[in-house]
Amino acid sequence: MPVDYNELKKDRDAEWREELRKKVSAKDRSSQERIKMPERPPQVRNKDFFEVPEGFSEEQAVVEASRCLDCPTPTCISGCPVNINIPGFIKEIERREFLQAAKVLKRTNALPAVCGRVCPQESQCESKCIYNRMKKRPVAIGALERFSADYERKTGNISIPELAKNNNIKVAIVGSGPAGLTVAGEMAKLGYDVTVFEALHEFGGVLVYGIPEFRLPKEIVRTEINSLERMGVKMVKNFIVGRTSTFEELKNQGYRAFFIASGAGLPTFMKIPGENLINIYSSNEYLTRVNLMKAFRFPEYDTPIVKGKNVAVIGGGNTAMDSVRTAKRLGAERAMIVYRRSESEMPARIEEIHHAKEEGIEFLNLNNPLEYIGDANGRVKQMKVQKMGLGEPDESGRRRPQPIPGSEYLIDVDTVVVGIGTSPNPLIPAALPQLEVTKWKTVVVNEKTMQTSIPEMFAGGDIVRGGATVILAMGDGKIAAENMHLFIQENK
Ligand code: FAD
Ligand code: SF4
Repeated sequence: MPVDYNELKKDRDAEWREELRKKVSAKDRSSQERIKMPERPPQVRNKDFFEVPEGFSEEQAVVEASRCLDCPTPTCISGCPVNINIPGFIKEIERREFLQAAKVLKRTNALPAVCGRVCPQESQCESKCIYNRMKKRPVAIGALERFSADYERKTGNISIPELAKNNNIKVAIVGSGPAGLTVAGEMAKLGYDVTVFEALHEFGGVLVYGIPEFRLPKEIVRTEINSLERMGVKMVKNFIVGRTSTFEELKNQGYRAFFIASGAGLPTFMKIPGENLINIYSSNEYLTRVNLMKAFRFPEYDTPIVKGKNVAVIGGGNTAMDSVRTAKRLGAERAMIVYRRSESEMPARIEEIHHAKEEGIEFLNLNNPLEYIGDANGRVKQMKVQKMGLGEPDESGRRRPQPIPGSEYLIDVDTVVVGIGTSPNPLIPAALPQLEVTKWKTVVVNEKTMQTSIPEMFAGGDIVRGGATVILAMGDGKIAAENMHLFIQENK
């Protein structure tokens, strides 16, 4: 999305912003060290599911906000997939207008409390902050975003955006992850009669079934859903579009356009011997049992989970990191990451790798599982792994892992979680044979409009990209909503 610098300039020219810039010199601002967000001690937090970072206090937020130089051309915004007016909300914090800061954020980002916690800011907005060029640590944009959204929620002053008059045109959203929720909010603002259909018994997609409570408390997702409901969005759960009702049936009920946001929830396995042994989970199943079904509170809740003592988690992404930290919290004595490349190639957020290490997670990098070995009852008891070296970069730009012959060895394990990635949910393409999909089964869209090969159907998020990020799913949602609106207006 291109940044509209003229629009930003209007905000920046406000008298109060000018005064703020004059009050403290750029030199003084940039000599202030970045404020570190307080965190709960590793040896305490690795035994419970409460959140790890504690958030900025008001004073810390104001000091950190004062580091921002309110640049005339804020390069940070070019790193944000939804173009948040970053200096705009940060300067509101500096002048202690915290609720106003949240309002600025919400102009372009419907889920700031979520993004402030899970977005990879270090490779997005913060990587583009001017401080990097000065060889200084960037402004803590993510922590400030989280602060503003939390302030609004904790003070019970949650604003909802202005809504256009209801036009009584029905649109359906399939899936309630970040992509679906974004489209729901945008279409409600434009006056549409919006219904979100969700297959599971809770709304939020990966935000509730994947990302654990210690990174993203579910109360935050619920608050965002409540805001959508206050905007008139109808939320329908336990409803599988394509099964509970077909698209044809929904069309007959008056739905004029659809947004497909069914995600990439299908687990991938390595297809190696022994992978079917008992106590080998996909990370999706493992995390869903713990997060959504509250298995860590079994038997108070119905769903159990095996609380392994020696747990190996395969993979190096966020999913693997969430699984291994969950295993530690469930009581594992040895909770290990087994990853075939080295740490510098790991796709997980740097912060999460750092937190995992602090919490006592072992990293067996440059190790690749070859086979699982079971006991007489069919339960996994060992895994055979092979050591790896790194060769030339592959098509992903990362150095290709290469097996070291003769380096195989055995590790004792009683639980394994396979977190090597997921693929697109196959249900919607199966229900719509005329929908064009790629060879990886992602839905084909026009990238400028997010329209699929079926004109009244738009799609975005992981069902289009494969596994990506929350903010990219939301960015897709914004583009799709704009173009769904155009499509409906042109085809009245
Ligand atoms: P999803 O969030 O997957 O939501 C899709 C929803 O559609 C699901 O609720 C599903 O039940 C529903 N659905 C599917 N089919 C149907 C149907 N037929 N009818 C009705 N409903 C249906 N990203 C980050 O930016 N930062 C992170 O730290 C991060 N950590 C992650 C940790 C884990 C464990 C995982 C799995 C992913 C993580 N991601 C992270 C990735 C991010 O969560 C996803 O990219 C994002 O959630 C995709 O959003 P979405 O709306 O496309 O799909
Ligand atoms: Fe502030 Fe950094 Fe953005 Fe400049 S680039 S406006 S200093 S956050």
